[in-house]
Amino acid sequence: MRRKLVVGNWKMNGSRLANAELLAGLEEAGPFDADVAVCPPLVYLSEVALSLQGKRTAWGAQDCSARDSGAYTGEVSAAMLAEFGCKYVIVGHSERRALHAESDQLVADKAKAALAHHLTPIVCVGETLAEREAGQTDVVVKRQMSAVIHTLGHCISQIVVAYEPVWAIGTGKTATPEQAQAVHALLRTQLHAATPKSEEMQILYGGSVKPDNAATLFSQPDIDGGLIGGASLKAADFAAICRAAA
Ligand code: PEP
Repeated sequence: MRRKLVVGNWKMNGSRLANAELLAGLEEAGPFDADVAVCPPLVYLSEVALSLQGKRTAWGAQDCSARDSGAYTGEVSAAMLAEFGCKYVIVGHSERRALHAESDQLVADKAKAALAHHLTPIVCVGETLAEREAGQTDVVVKRQMSAVIHTLGHCISQIVVAYEPVWAIGTGKTATPEQAQAVHALLRTQLHAATPKSEEMQILYGGSVKPDNAATLFSQPDIDGGLIGGASLKAADFAAICRAAA
């Protein structure tokens, strides 16, 4: 049986004080019978890493460069993240695909760079509202996944996948458990053709997961936890979602 994973994507939120309070609240509410991780803004990474040292909660980054080093102003490499004890790095979040014009291939290259430095990439895929309404959901997520499968080869089994319908992110609109499960099953079938380990892979759902809808979503057979944005900023809400994953 796959273990559930709940990851908090803090996006560009927080402050040193707010982060300390959030982590203290989470620590007090735990431990949880699920894997839990937080992805703070980069500038807070070392402080978060220090405060989580020796605790059960893992940490990660929200993005990494596809390159190892060099003249790439503003970028941070996977090797640098590894130095700070990151376990995970999110790649291909829809906000980066949309606001930074990240292509499917760039996302795949970032996932490859992460694996090369022993980080687990959390690869996000998902369709926009227009794509869903045009009946393109399956084509879009399969295309996004396919670039990663082709780039990683047999290493594909080492990634975590996050299905995040773009229309559900930060909007309060959640995919129904059935809608989400249908896409998760589709992705697992696609992964099955690429690796004998597809049944062991974690496929997370993200998009307005809240304490009141988490348990139903996580009870679907192919939903192995969540990538949580807004609700990961409140210790009580995030803790309730982690409990729902147990
Ligand atoms: C996200 O940004 O990955 C996300 C799922 O956000 P929210 O939970 O706020 O919809």
